[in-house]
Amino acid sequence: MNLCLLCERPDETGSYLCPGCSKSTRVRLEALPVLYRGLGVLLAPAGGAPQGRGGKGGPPPLPVAEGILDMRGVMVGTLEDWLSAVRQECGMRQHPAARRGVDGRLDAAVESLLRHMPWITVSWPQAGEFAGEIRDLAGGVASMLRPPAPERGARVGNCPAVDPSGAICGAVLRLAPGEKAIVCPWCTCSYPPYVWAQLKSWINEDMKASDAA
Ligand SMILES: [Zn+2]
Ligand SMILES: [Zn+2]
Repeated sequence: MNLCLLCERPDETGSYLCPGCSKSTRVRLEALPVLYRGLGVLLAPAGGAPQGRGGKGGPPPLPVAEGILDMRGVMVGTLEDWLSAVRQECGMRQHPAARRGVDGRLDAAVESLLRHMPWITVSWPQAGEFAGEIRDLAGGVASMLRPPAPERGARVGNCPAVDPSGAICGAVLRLAPGEKAIVCPWCTCSYPPYVWAQLKSWINEDMKASDAA
């Protein structure tokens, strides 16, 4: 039994790609035009884009647009290279791609590659390399589009507030990005900056007390 060239597991169909890998390659190809347009949205002028950390007059935002433009070029180039390899292998004539806009070129290349997927899966020894590159491409672009994890803020310590019964609140306090005061998410006690030194010593006292207990 031969092995699938992508996942390297035994494949009963005797193809170069197992049914699962053939399917996921199709799905990734179909996702590429969507991902490509997603990158285009990032290219739009970032007027009211969130500033990220603090806004304390830090360094200017990274010039991401350049990386995005490069990535879009890489996407089109990669797909057209593979399509041209497929066409050469099948003895088809090469279509000049230049008459379409770049966006149209990407869509056209994806469409043609999808049409060739059955042949690629069953008959093309380069199927594994092709499928691997499509996987890396789709994954790379998707990671550029993924929103950064929400910032939870720096952990300060456990809330030292004491309730009427004398119990210490103990909820985890965080200084949320851009916030001026630390607010306890549990007892809603608010700690403005001028009490932070005191807060720190309360937290340390409570920590020592609980370590001793
Ligand atoms: Zn496989
Ligand atoms: Zn609290």
